[in-house]
Order: sequence, then C-alpha cells, then structure tokens
Amino acid sequence: MIGENLKLVEEEIMGACERANRSRDEVTLIAVSKTKPVGDIYEAMECGIMTFGENKVQELNDKVEIVKEPVSWHFIGHLQRNKVKQLVGKTVLIHSVDSFRLAEQVHLESVKKDIVSEVLIEVNVAKEESKFGVFAEDVENLIREVAKLPNIAIKGLMTIAPYTQNPEDNRIHFQNLRKLLIDINAKNIDNVNMSELSMGMTGDYAVAIEEGATYVRVGTGIFGVRYYNNN
Ligand SMILES: *Cc1c(COP(=O)(O)O)cnc(C)c1O
Repeated sequence: MIGENLKLVEEEIMGACERANRSRDEVTLIAVSKTKPVGDIYEAMECGIMTFGENKVQELNDKVEIVKEPVSWHFIGHLQRNKVKQLVGKTVLIHSVDSFRLAEQVHLESVKKDIVSEVLIEVNVAKEESKFGVFAEDVENLIREVAKLPNIAIKGLMTIAPYTQNPEDNRIHFQNLRKLLIDINAKNIDNVNMSELSMGMTGDYAVAIEEGATYVRVGTGIFGVRYYNNN
C-alpha cells in the first residue's frame, strides 16, 4: 500500500511542478512517519524515500536508534526547550523554531556539540489560536535576533496551514509565506539568506508546490490514517 501511495504522491508532485514550471528536484518530499512503526519506514525506503519527518523528540530518537541506514530526519513538531538537548544533532533540519528563547536553547546545545543547527521559523499564517508559530508581522524581528546566534542557520520558513476540505483555500497562505520570505531576504540582514519553504501536507501539497514549496510534509497520503491510542 505504501508503494502505491508513494506512486500517486509522486505523480501529484510532478504534476504540480509541471503546472508551476518548476523542476522536480526543487521539491523534497518529507515522508511524515509519526506514530507509524519502523517497518513502514523500511517499506518507504525500499521505494526510494530517504527523508522522514517526526514530530516528537522521543519517538524520533527511538527511530534514529533503530533505523541505522543513512536517512535524513526532519523535526517538524512543536519543540519544548527541555527537549532540545535530546534533539540537536539528530536531524538535518528543525522546522519549528517559533521563539527567541527556543532558538537560544538550540544555539546553546549546538555550541556544546560544536555544530551549526539548520532551522526554519514556524509562521502561524492564519493566526489560528490552536497553532504554534509566530505571526507574519513578528517574523522579521525574530529573525533579526536569531540571526545573531552563530550556531544557528536560518534556512527558511515553515507553516501548517489551516485544516480545510478545499486546498484552494490555503493558496493565499502559501503565497503570503513566500512573499514574506522574499521580503525578509530583501532586507539584507546579516547571516540571513533564506531559500526553503516548508509548506503543504496531504490535503494541500500540490497547491503548496505551485506556490513555491521546497519541502512538502506528507503523512497520511503515504502511510494511511494515524491512530493515536499509544500517544
Ligand atoms: C502530521 C504532520 C504532517 C503530515 O500531515 P498529513 O496530513 O498526514 O500529511 C505535516 N506537518 C506537520 C507539522 C505534522 O505534524
């Protein structure tokens, strides 16, 4: 089933790239394996997927321990400061920095491990109360502060768009996130030259790609519905 799902997702990604006149290799598919067993990860790997997303630090660490193969892990979930220590160094990208205090913690742990952590700033594009992320108007100020931390590299912006039946509803949010990235780059802030847009999930990733996504995070569309009874 995972193989067939991946074929459909890949077709959808290619279609969106064609419509937007983009090259397929501008978009990285992150297979969101949260709550799913490592067997599912191996199955996706057999189909050529080497990039996985997790949203809980403990679950990520457990899976990193088991899956020895050189896959890239992305942390896409809300991050608490007391979990940063266990996360830094495990992933290629942390998608969910949404405060200076959190960034400081990531910086501190990165200094200790002598690495530079690549991060995205999470933006709450629709100002939903239920969502994490900074509001668009506060992103520039946060980036100005975070950019001063030498062991953090800001690679771009991330958003979780509103849940909707109609992906077209989210097109405006994806457009706004891209505009925000371009606007902030144009300010020529020291150490800030962002190129990544992490936007689009199972329900809306094609629209997100049409609007410039460089990472799409697809869980259900690849692995099927999730059951949360263990978490
Ligand atoms: C779970 C999750 C996804 C994947 O959601 P699907 O709708 O299952 O594709 C993407 N991004 C984040 C941040 C998530 O937590």
